[in-house]
This record gives sequence, structure tokens and C-alpha cells, in this order.
Amino acid sequence: MARFIFVTGGVVSSLGKGLAGASVAALLQARGYKVRMRKLDPYINVDPGTMNPYEHGECYVTDDGAETDLDLGHYERFTGVSSKQSDNVTTGRIYQTVIRKERRGDYLGATVQVIPHITNAIKEFATADIEDEDFVLIEIGGTVGDIESLPFLEAIRQLGNELGQDAIFMHLTLVPYIAAAGELKTKPTQHSVKELQSIGIQPNILLCRSEHPIPAGLLAKIGQFCNVPEKAVIPALDVRTIYEVPLSYHKEGLDTAVLDAFGLTGAPQPDLSKWEDIADRVINPEGQVNISVVGKYIELQDAYKSLTESLVHGGIANRIKVNIDWVESELFENDESQLTDRFKNTHAILVPGGFGERGAEGKIKSARYARENNIPYFGICYGMQMAVIEGCRHLAGLENAGTSEFGNFDPNVVGLMTEWTRGNAKEKRSEDGDLGGTMRVGSYPCALLEGTKVREIYGEELIQERHRHRYEVNIAYKDALEKVGYKFSGLSPDGDLPEIVEIPDHPWFIGVQFHPELKSRPFEPHPLFESFVKAAMDKSRLV
Ligand code: GLN
Repeated sequence: MARFIFVTGGVVSSLGKGLAGASVAALLQARGYKVRMRKLDPYINVDPGTMNPYEHGECYVTDDGAETDLDLGHYERFTGVSSKQSDNVTTGRIYQTVIRKERRGDYLGATVQVIPHITNAIKEFATADIEDEDFVLIEIGGTVGDIESLPFLEAIRQLGNELGQDAIFMHLTLVPYIAAAGELKTKPTQHSVKELQSIGIQPNILLCRSEHPIPAGLLAKIGQFCNVPEKAVIPALDVRTIYEVPLSYHKEGLDTAVLDAFGLTGAPQPDLSKWEDIADRVINPEGQVNISVVGKYIELQDAYKSLTESLVHGGIANRIKVNIDWVESELFENDESQLTDRFKNTHAILVPGGFGERGAEGKIKSARYARENNIPYFGICYGMQMAVIEGCRHLAGLENAGTSEFGNFDPNVVGLMTEWTRGNAKEKRSEDGDLGGTMRVGSYPCALLEGTKVREIYGEELIQERHRHRYEVNIAYKDALEKVGYKFSGLSPDGDLPEIVEIPDHPWFIGVQFHPELKSRPFEPHPLFESFVKAAMDKSRLV
């Protein structure tokens, strides 16, 4: 039977609950336990797939095609355990399930209420689809005190009762430093814990985020006021890299406190050598490169969370630091001289995934600049589609090529197919359908062509990568592009869908229809990112 750790957050949002939970899971894993992580999100959207990245950051995609919260990306990167559909749920999905049942008459005429119907649905979700895991960590989105998280808190309170010794509560709070008084303040933590206690939850562990070291006396005071053992009040100070967080928590005794709270004695000591190695690689690099990321949501870097981390992983593999220059693609639309100016010191250009017309021409210009100036280019999803349009326009004689995503071009070299094959099931999609759930999402196979750069990079014939897009490069333009120097080096196994396009005569020019950043992990940097960062390094030696 699995043990449950419920993680809540208090005082303010953005304290890094996802990272904190992922670090606890990583520490338990380092002691030989099998872990699983889940997130319960209090918003009404059925999934974050339809949310603007400005609102909510990146939408993380799992192998089995769930569009989820970006915290699941942290979970995967820290534990290496692939998340599933059953690992993220929202208020919207819970209500959808309950309302469907109500319409079917499953409740036999009962009045359907938040307690017990919604809370039961939450509990069912939280405890479903668990195999032989030793620990399941469940993070509750939002901050304690929010109206919308109440049903989730009530559900985990009930679970705490039902599971007894097999469940604990960990609460993440802030201990702010008031510069004028020169003091750290514990009151917000006390209030936040009171709020939890008022709904019947007594935290077992307090993780206190702070910018300054918290003196032992203050930790003892927090413990006393919050009814938590002093040893279970853990300071969580800022560290140099997120990959140092598990090491720092271990030093402060967090994993021991977790095991104590479960009454588990005699657990094996953790093996943290792999964490020490990657933290060392990030903190002590042997060189650096500059990579420009040309996108549309650059003010909010959470919109590119996995991408940023994958570039860090590429750096880890090569033992170098990757400096990212975030470039707003619209910058190039009316003023081409900006290209030379902005890319003066860049060693590689990456155009990530994106949606819609705004900024697209700037991305096309960036791809052209990279191609013509022998600068390594990595096009991901939209970035591949833009590179294909660029090649068609400027090399293949199709000056008016475009994508039906933002108009009707002559020709649309990227377009919506009305009928797809997903596995064996045929799926219909049309332009007037709902926006939610109409994309090719999740893991799909891709066959790599012998003798190509990607085949060499992966060292495999058949790969599986995660997708999230509506449009596809039209295979009908393969010959036209191959005649002018491109190679369609990766295709869906049936040969219908172009998955990778590269330019063999360029130092490094690869466009992929999928999102490799979703599968990169610090311990297993994605081969494409490892190779791309290496190409940037080679470029930096030339300039
Ligand atoms: N907008 C493009 C499509 O839907 C690309 C999506 C993406 O980059 N994730 O096909």
C-alpha cells in the first residue's frame, strides 16, 4: 500500500511548490523507494490545453497525450518517472465527471453536492491508478485560503483521516525578511498554518522558504506556534541552481523528517551522487555559449520552462553554461537590420513551438538568417514549420508559400489535415471544431533515415517523441525541398507525416515536428539538445 504525501502552499504563490515536491520525491527515490507524483489544480478549465501561456506558463504534454500543468515537467525531470493522464486533474474535470454521472442518473436521485460528491470524485482521482509505488506525492495547486481550493483541501483532509499513518501533510510557506526592521518574520507562516488547521489539517512538516538563513531559535518558535516538531520545520533557502534543491533539503533534514513523520525507521541512506554531479556541472562550467531563442511569449519564461531546462541539460552534457537571449520575433518584422544586430554574438538560434500569426514572419526571417549564415538552427514544432516555409519561399521557388494556420497561401505547405490516423483509430478534426482536445497530442513514433544527422545523433532507427500541434508539413513538398538541399530525415512510420527536416550541408540545421524538450532530463540530456549545444560550442570557437 502506497503512502501519501500531500503538499500545500501558503502565504504567497510562486514559492516553488512543484520543485519542492519534486525534490522530496527525488530524495525518497535516492533512498531506493518507488515514487509517483500528481497535481490537483483548482481552476475550472478542464485542462490547461486551452490556456494562454501568458496566463499559466507552458502546457506540459505526457506520453499518453494529457495536456497538463508545467509542474509535471518538474516532476519528470527530477524523478525520471513519466507522468500519465491520471497524474493531473482540475476542478473543471472533476465537475465534468460528476455532472456527467448526474445526467446519467448514477446518483439515483440524490442531491449532488460539493461534499460528498465532488470530494469523493477528488479522492477517487487521487488514489486511482496506483501500482507498486511506495510513496505518492500529491500537490494541491493554489494557496491555502483560496476559495477555489477548498474542496481539494477537504478531500485530502478526509483522506488523511482514512489513511491514518499512511498519509502526511507538508506545507510550504514563506518567512519574509523585513529590511527596515532587519528581521525575519514568522507571522505569515503562523497565519497560514492556522488557516489549514481551521479546515482540519495539521501539517506534519513545514518547509520555510526564505532569502536569509533562519536561526534555530526562530525555527523552534515556528514549530511551537504551529504545533509541528522542531525537527520538521525545515528552512528552504535560495540556491544557485534548481538542481541543487534536493541536496540542500537533504542537508536540512527534510527526507529524514518525512520518514519520521511516517514512523519509518531504518530507511537506507540516500545516494545523492548523481545530484552532486549535475549540480557541480551547472555551478562549475568550463565555458559558455550564447543561444538566441526567438519566440512570442518571451516576457514570461514559464511559457518555455521545459525548453529552458533542456538547454541547461544540453549544457550539463557538454559541461558548459548556456546563456539564453530571449528575442521577441516581431522585432525582425519591419526592420531586417535588427537581425545582424541581435544575432551578432549568438552561437545558435532556436525557434520554439508557437501558435498563430503574430511574430511568424520574424521566425521565418530568423530561420533564413541561420541558414544563410551557417549558424546552428533548431526549429521545434512551429520552428520546423517556419523553416520549411522559408526554404519553400527562398530556395524552392514557391515565393508565396505559407501555412493555413494564418491564411490561405499559394501554396499552403503546412496545413490542417482533415483526417488522421492515431494508432488504429481514425480521428476526425475540422476547422470548426472545439479548440480543446483537437491536436495531435502525446507520443508518436518516428522512423529515422539511414545516413542522416538525426540518425547519428539518436543512434536509433525508431524513436518516440511527444507532439502537440494541429498543423503538419505537407509531404507533397518533400521532393521540391529535397531538390534544393533539404532532407526529410524523420517520417511517421507510414511515411505520411514529415517529422524531421534537416539540411545536410549546413553545420547544424534541424527542424522537428515534435517537442524533444518534454523528454529531456538532467541525468539523461536529450540527444538533440546535447548535440545542438555542442554545435553552438563549435560555432563559438569559430567566431
Ligand atoms: N501552431 C502550430 C500547429 O498547431 C505549431 C504548434 C506548436 O508549435 N506546438 O501545428
